[in-house]
Amino acid sequence: MPKIVHYRNKCIGCNSCVEHSPNNWKISSNDGKSDLIGSVKKKDTFVKKIREDEIVENELAARDCPVKIIHIFK
Ligand code: SF4
Repeated sequence: MPKIVHYRNKCIGCNSCVEHSPNNWKISSNDGKSDLIGSVKKKDTFVKKIREDEIVENELAARDCPVKIIHIFK
C-alpha cells in the first residue's frame, strides 16, 4: 500500500500541500505547521498509508513542498 512520510519538524506552513490534497493535509492551529491527517508518528516523521488514487495529488504536494519534507512511497 502506498504511503506518505512527512518530516513535520521542518514544515514552514506554506499551505501548498493542503491545496493539493485537502483530504490529507491541514494546517495546525497550534503551531502553523501542516498535519498529515490520520498519520502515525514514527520517530521524527509522520506516516500515513494512502489509496492508489491519492498518489498523484500527493506527488504534486511533494514536488511543490518548498522544503522537500514530503515523501511518497509506492
Ligand atoms: S508544502 Fe511542505 S512546507 Fe508547505 S505546509 Fe506542506 S509540508 Fe509544510
